[in-house]
Amino acid sequence: MELACLDLEGVLIPEIWIAFAEETGIDELKATTRDVPDYDVLMKQRLRILDEHGLTLPQIQATISRLAPLDGASEFIDWLRERFQVVILSDTFYDFAEPLMKQLGHPTLLCHKLEVDDNGRITDYTLRQKDPKRQSVRAFQLLNYRVIAAGDSYNDTTMLTQAESGILFHSPQNVIDEFPQFPAVHTFEDLKKQFLKASQRNLTL
Ligand SMILES: [Mg+2]
Repeated sequence: MELACLDLEGVLIPEIWIAFAEETGIDELKATTRDVPDYDVLMKQRLRILDEHGLTLPQIQATISRLAPLDGASEFIDWLRERFQVVILSDTFYDFAEPLMKQLGHPTLLCHKLEVDDNGRITDYTLRQKDPKRQSVRAFQLLNYRVIAAGDSYNDTTMLTQAESGILFHSPQNVIDEFPQFPAVHTFEDLKKQFLKASQRNLTL
């Protein structure tokens, strides 16, 4: 039995924080897991910047409501779901992801949640668990699934390592250089081929 695990931001949808940084003009908010490998450090930095500028969850959600999946992402996820059970493993928050998941046909999503006060201020966040992507893959393996995983960034690399096959997709060169053990592709057509190659079944394009 095989299961496909996909990262969300940078793979299927744009980076939410980069989109929000561009709309607000706050360059500091452009940092992502590509720049800051420790997600806790990155999130604390983001919440501090939001507070400094008095920005709230509804303002971020307004930005997100104007985003669409990356070109070809919806078609890709449909293709993948016809051939694999698919689970999205993301370090985003349910509070952010919903409008974009709707556009992707609501695939299964495991991620985190925000703590928000009555004024919409994001006061904190709850990470589902430590190293959640890798732990999810481990759990699926305990259920006797072989896992093929794809992601773009530092926060995906433990997932890619734990999986039977890991694929880098849309990764920046620094991540590709640091993790040469994973094949690195940049188009959905090539990503499909990597999934077929990693599969032990006779699947076709
Ligand atoms: Mg990503």
